[in-house]
Amino acid sequence: MSTKDRRKIYPFFLPNAGCRTRCSFCNQLIMTGETIPDFSKLENMDFSNIDEIAFYGGTFTGLKRETIERLLCIAPHIPKRISTKPDLIDDSTVQMLKDGNVKVLEIGIESLDDEVLEYSKRGYKAEDAIKSIERLKKDFEIIAHLMVGLPHDSKEKDLESIRLLLDNGIRAFRIHPTLVFKDTELEKLHKDGLYTPLSLEEALDVVVDMTILIESANGHVTRLGYHVPQSQMKYLIAGPYHSSFGDIVRSVLIRKIIEGLSIKKVTYSYRYKPWFYAHGNGEIHVEREEVGNDIDDDILFFDDFTYAQSLNLLIERSK
Ligand code: SF4
Repeated sequence: MSTKDRRKIYPFFLPNAGCRTRCSFCNQLIMTGETIPDFSKLENMDFSNIDEIAFYGGTFTGLKRETIERLLCIAPHIPKRISTKPDLIDDSTVQMLKDGNVKVLEIGIESLDDEVLEYSKRGYKAEDAIKSIERLKKDFEIIAHLMVGLPHDSKEKDLESIRLLLDNGIRAFRIHPTLVFKDTELEKLHKDGLYTPLSLEEALDVVVDMTILIESANGHVTRLGYHVPQSQMKYLIAGPYHSSFGDIVRSVLIRKIIEGLSIKKVTYSYRYKPWFYAHGNGEIHVEREEVGNDIDDDILFFDDFTYAQSLNLLIERSK
């Protein structure tokens, strides 16, 4: 299993740019503290040694056509990745993205439950999202973003969203717990007692099980949890935030495998070491063998089981 992407990605953030509506949990200016960059400065930057340019935030394919073309013309030889949502990509936009060297689409699916989508004001139904993925996966590498703890969400719905996406060929994911930020509709619902965020324990429980489902199917989760810059913490009203959310998910998951399968010995390369020591895992009674000390070594065994085999066994035994 490899969870590390070593491409050098140069990120630009376009907060809420191209969004035609506002999702109930979102206010990217508040959440990130970023503002729309000056495009003429981007056009004059030096991108030597950069493998990929990313346009994160907002809905890239909802931008005006001339803006999309202008941004994709920046360093045209460098592959691009963009963030978007599944309902704002028509065939002519797909062609424009292909012509503009876009290789990766980070698609905010968030959920494949119609009730959750409606209460989060996403503006599409699960069926629309699936159809969109079906069409786009032929031409692009897709990373699906999902959220847990949205209004009217449940653990069962989150796991079902994963199953549907895996069934439709998606193998790369980012998963975020829902946080309540200032100046969002969710803040109002929370204030009025109409929305209760997940606790950190609840968020960890569901995200660990989502990760197990994904990685048992040889998929991978490229990011877990939100980064909230220190300057924006004052706008975080409620929700299961932890600055090391992803690391804790990994630690809980490792503990679940060792304890759930009564593992006697773990064998891992250097990059996985923190999983076996952080957040209380150093106290687990298990023999530890560290092999390979290069950051690129990718070795992970639980007794004689590979990581994916261990996850599949865990799923089998929990039935
Ligand atoms: S979640 Fe995405 S689509 Fe919704 S308002 Fe925020 S940036 Fe736009």
